[in-house]
Amino acid sequence: MSTQNIAIHLPDGSVREVPVGTTPFQIANDISPRLASASVVARLTPVHAAATEKATGAGESEAAMYAAEDAAASRLVDLSTPLKEDTKLELIRENDPDALKVVRHSAAHVLATAVLELFPETKLGHGPATENGFFYDFYREKPFTPEDIAAIEKKMTDVVARDEKFVREYEPREQALAEFEKDGDFMKTHFVTKFTEPGSQVAFYRNGNFVDFCRGPHVPSTGRVKAVKVMNTSGAYWLGNEKNPQLQRIYGTAFFSQKDLDAYLALLEDAKRRDHRRLGKELELFTVNEDVGAGLPLWLPKGATIRRLLEDYIVDLERKLGYEHVYTPDLAKVDLYIRSGHWAHYHEDMFPPMDLETEQMVLRPMNCPHHILIYESRLRSYRELPVRIAELGTMYRYERSGALSGLSRVRCMTLNDAHIFCSPDQIKEEFSGVMKLVERAYRDLGITKYSYRLSLRDPANKEKYVDNDAMWELGERVLREAMDSLGLKYREARGEAAFYGPKLDIQLADVMGHEETYSTIQVDFHLPNQFKLEYTAADGTRQRPVMIHRGVISTMERMTSYLIELYAGAFPLWLAPVQIGLVPIAERHLDYAKKVEAELKAAGFRVETDARNEKMNAKIRDLANQKIPYILVFGDKEESNAAVSVRTRGKGDQGSMPLTDFIAKAKSQVETKSTEL
Ligand SMILES: [Zn+2]
Ligand SMILES: [Zn+2]
Repeated sequence: MSTQNIAIHLPDGSVREVPVGTTPFQIANDISPRLASASVVARLTPVHAAATEKATGAGESEAAMYAAEDAAASRLVDLSTPLKEDTKLELIRENDPDALKVVRHSAAHVLATAVLELFPETKLGHGPATENGFFYDFYREKPFTPEDIAAIEKKMTDVVARDEKFVREYEPREQALAEFEKDGDFMKTHFVTKFTEPGSQVAFYRNGNFVDFCRGPHVPSTGRVKAVKVMNTSGAYWLGNEKNPQLQRIYGTAFFSQKDLDAYLALLEDAKRRDHRRLGKELELFTVNEDVGAGLPLWLPKGATIRRLLEDYIVDLERKLGYEHVYTPDLAKVDLYIRSGHWAHYHEDMFPPMDLETEQMVLRPMNCPHHILIYESRLRSYRELPVRIAELGTMYRYERSGALSGLSRVRCMTLNDAHIFCSPDQIKEEFSGVMKLVERAYRDLGITKYSYRLSLRDPANKEKYVDNDAMWELGERVLREAMDSLGLKYREARGEAAFYGPKLDIQLADVMGHEETYSTIQVDFHLPNQFKLEYTAADGTRQRPVMIHRGVISTMERMTSYLIELYAGAFPLWLAPVQIGLVPIAERHLDYAKKVEAELKAAGFRVETDARNEKMNAKIRDLANQKIPYILVFGDKEESNAAVSVRTRGKGDQGSMPLTDFIAKAKSQVETKSTEL
């Protein structure tokens, strides 16, 4: 019989007829040998199915590593995989994010190879790629010492230099299991049992003498792991159970070039330098005390100053824009949250209820129900709409203790919250108004790295979303129109909406480029129904308002943690807890110091004088360590000229100037919220 041909669809739209069994590498080589050697893996997508999901070459969980593939989705395969049917083929090169995952998982094999060569008694767990690298779990009675780790890292370089091919092999499952059991490979026995079918052939990857149970894919050879580094180690119980043996997890990262690895390590250093937990301690901004409890930070005076500035800033702005600020209690009866639906949808994230006489009370997880009760405290007319009820609302969430971190993940938080009650035809204008406020606030805070995500429902998922097609279509349409007419760029995310309506998420990137949602604006058709909210329309009929939930500058906790890291503790003048430090050169200048301090305070500045009997340079250094924007130094000459010698943070000694000139300059920087000094 003659060989059968299959059709390979390439990204440029061309189709190649090749014999069954041709590999992606051969196809690449046919196009150009340079393409073949630049490729890392191949992405296959069935011709007749839409490519919806991204392939998970090597996910973080064990399930993602071994689970059977979705037949309709794209998948990554080795360049040496024989192709058996018509398919779309993409050759993945080093610049593709999926390629990075594949090289990192391959680096995990390199790590395991090195460990077994040096410590043959070690038993293997699994070694997936992670967001920033990879890890491998090992079982060995003796812990790896720092010297062991150094030897492992050195041995990894050898394995890379040997440029061993990664070869996919198969073995009948029962035979593989028998071998693993005989060798006491309890973790491999578990993975094979759990993730493969009885009677099947099990895939292994071999490089040199090292063989690992693995679904792949891999880079063509160990030599493609061009830059690899062991980062740290940690202990974990096998399957998370403390009765099981303790494993040693070795973390590493890998890149296609030393340059990329160096850039990543520099970024890590920068992130460490900016870490708000470290700076929060050093700059005396906040503290966490075990006697209060985890996730319940105490704001120290300097951190509290920053928070108060943020609160005043946003409240002033909102009041000018027609928001009415209210105060409501931090707790309510459980019944209120049963009515709002939070109890059903959210109670696992709430603190447990308290029994109080005949009632059950609970700390609020959100402020919406309280604001709804303010709206319905009297009958509203269409003339009053929109009603914008705002509050710096304190809420409580039961975050798991493992997730808590500094100010960024806490159990008690105060949100710059507001709920806008409006008629359906006001949604667009109100939403636009909120967006303008967001843009303004981010500009004032000096935040530039953010993006907008329009989160829509998945219309196929009837269970997850409130069933009201007309409302969803209206909500999604006006949000799009509003964003477009404001000229704001956004990306759409299907299936990311809240269960009650579409929302716009404001995604902030941290130093490492990791994005998180800080603020959201949500259109809600559901709660007004739950609470049967009404207003009197122009024709006298009773109509139902729509609710917009919005937070602009997030919670005070998260925004402060973000700003600490954004500025590495060196806040712009308007936000700095201490704006100006005073250094009288000798004791005889203390009277002048008092005068300068009084004048600066009268002009509205936050000032600290170092009146200690210390050397001038020591005083300057101590104030500079607090990252104070301006340090003013003065002696006889300055005193006789009503002047100060100005040291600007990051710029050093700027020479002497009249105090009045300095005040005028600093005042204008505060007024314009300048991020420059
Ligand atoms: Zn593997
Ligand atoms: Zn709300």
